Amino acid sequence: MLKKGNKLYSILTGSCPRCHQESMYIDPNPYHLGSLFKMYTRCAHCNTKYKIEPSFFYGAMYVSYAVGIAFAVAVFVIAFLIIGIGLLNTFIAIVVTMVVFLPFIIRLSRNIWINIFIKYDPATARID
Ligand SMILES: [Zn+2]
Repeated sequence: MLKKGNKLYSILTGSCPRCHQESMYIDPNPYHLGSLFKMYTRCAHCNTKYKIEPSFFYGAMYVSYAVGIAFAVAVFVIAFLIIGIGLLNTFIAIVVTMVVFLPFIIRLSRNIWINIFIKYDPATARID
């Protein structure tokens, strides 16, 4: 089960990597594109600063390449190898998937990136 305290919880929900109590994002829905990159400066619960240094989230771009490739490979396996819709249709399916999932991939990459640097700390998760 996906619970607070598991790194995946913070990565998949976009919650604070240290306490898992608050969302890092002002608008939790990545498909509201106007606020895709809008994040709180600090966690309202444990006061963790999300942007560790000024260009911190540029590093998330490298993560997004890896996540994007993982999505492309998954679509290739499903569309080409399992369903067998042919190479051209598979290519189209990959492009469509990338466009549709891009906001999600961008958020996911930021969540993975920050979770590499900030560890879960159960002491901060206590309700006080
Ligand atoms: Zn927190």
